[in-house]
Amino acid sequence: MYVVATPIGNLSDLTERAITVLTQVDLVACEDTRHTQKLLQHLGLRKVMLSVHDHNERDRIDQVAQHLSEGRSLALVSDAGTPLISDPGYPLVQALRERGYQVVPVPGPSALITALSAAGLPTDRFLFEGFLPHKAGGRRERLEPLINETATIVFYESKHRILETLEIMTEAFGTDRKACVARELTKTFETFYHGTLADIQAALRVDTDQTKGEFVVMVAGNPEPITASAYDTEKLFRLLLAELPPKKAAAVIAELTGENKKSLYQRALEMQGKV
Ligand code: SAM
Repeated sequence: MYVVATPIGNLSDLTERAITVLTQVDLVACEDTRHTQKLLQHLGLRKVMLSVHDHNERDRIDQVAQHLSEGRSLALVSDAGTPLISDPGYPLVQALRERGYQVVPVPGPSALITALSAAGLPTDRFLFEGFLPHKAGGRRERLEPLINETATIVFYESKHRILETLEIMTEAFGTDRKACVARELTKTFETFYHGTLADIQAALRVDTDQTKGEFVVMVAGNPEPITASAYDTEKLFRLLLAELPPKKAAAVIAELTGENKKSLYQRALEMQGKV
């Protein structure tokens, strides 16, 4: 089975190899047959299609495996971009690999890499978070553990929630956190908004037309993360207790880490074997 990336907007981004593979395979497994039909029509191809989407992909595994075992080749595509990247296909690829079938990637566009390549944010390390939950509470919960993340964080977002998401991100990461929002990549109205989260929110609010389309939100990593880990605290204690009485050591560590002074003092006593 070939896993074939397709354009995220501009049809000229379909690779030569993707065209060859789509031309040669016996079947095309796709998220939405009507959507993929348009792409195949553009290429002048008529193919047997098999729908593989979030709601049926587990049931399709045996069927796909049957086709492969009978010698038929198959291309897996999604509506846009690279399959499995916030798109269906993971259970199918996992199952086929476990059963020993060959799975061949045919690389091409993906909104996250396209956005990062032109955003002007660090790309040496990044964390792809995909879509946040629909409910505001769920979104806040997902952002909380990311506050101290030092790598660039990449999210997908739809036009329905982009403003609300930016608002919640501003609350979580702070108004001054650097970010970039890429809208309608590779399409006529491609736009990059960059600056602080507050700047971007303001720019998007000015023109409601700007909230139409598809979005990739990239948030720069935290330049000043709070690094005090349990291990650091342990080490700090050992160093300070060699020089200071427990109460003073606990006060210094509380100041540095924001941890509770009383419980730190208790720990200092335990470490000194006084409790
Ligand atoms: N598999 C796709 C990929 O490789 O990028 C992603 C599919 S996901 C269902 C769709 C989301 O990807 C959109 O809601 C948007 O966040 C992002 N996206 C896809 N195409 C885009 C584009 N042309 N411009 C900006 N974001 C896009």
